[in-house]
Amino acid sequence: MTGTLYIISAPSGAGKTSLVSALVEAWPNLAVSVSHTTRSRRPGEVDGEHYHFVDVERFQRMVAEAAFLEHASVFGNYYGTSQPAVEARLSQDVDVILEIDWQGARQVRAAMPDSVSIFILPPSRNELEARLRARGQDSDEVIASRMREAVSEMSHYGEYDYLVVNDRFDQALADLSAIVRARRLRCAAQSQRMKDVLRDILA
Ligand code: 5GP
Repeated sequence: MTGTLYIISAPSGAGKTSLVSALVEAWPNLAVSVSHTTRSRRPGEVDGEHYHFVDVERFQRMVAEAAFLEHASVFGNYYGTSQPAVEARLSQDVDVILEIDWQGARQVRAAMPDSVSIFILPPSRNELEARLRARGQDSDEVIASRMREAVSEMSHYGEYDYLVVNDRFDQALADLSAIVRARRLRCAAQSQRMKDVLRDILA
């Protein structure tokens, strides 16, 4: 039996990272994949925990070796998901979350049609802008450019299986949990888990 692969995308400012951390805390056998990236490390980020930070040469070597399940250029940097790392976890029946952009989501959907994709939206344009402003002392120009990037990411919402709105954090977390719960209750998964009980009940 293998785990489920979840793809979660959102524009920056939708609260994806906090929601995914809380989801992983709430559920056993659920892990987040650590991506490779060529972007530079932000304050507080730990190599191997938030990302595997690599240079462009190393990244391109990994592309040539077909080491990535998906990879994309996002806002001028390369990002990719290690195929062997994801497969190792899935084969141990651990569900894996990929926090990736819409381009990577397309590639994973094509390669792994059983994956489950979720798009997280902010409740409104005004709220998204307020959240982006609250992050720091960015100029109007920087905020406007972040908003354009966010709108471009959000324009792909229709390609996903589920849409979750992050208005109230607890509600959005409950919605994500509902998706995980429903997936784990599918007959194919339950019948494996309950093999012995089913044999007994049906004897
Ligand atoms: P950030 O640099 O702010 O952490 O992430 C920027 C964007 O890159 C986000 O939209 C995030 O979802 C996306 N991203 C992060 N890791 C990956 C990855 O492995 N593959 C792809 N395709 N996108 C990624």
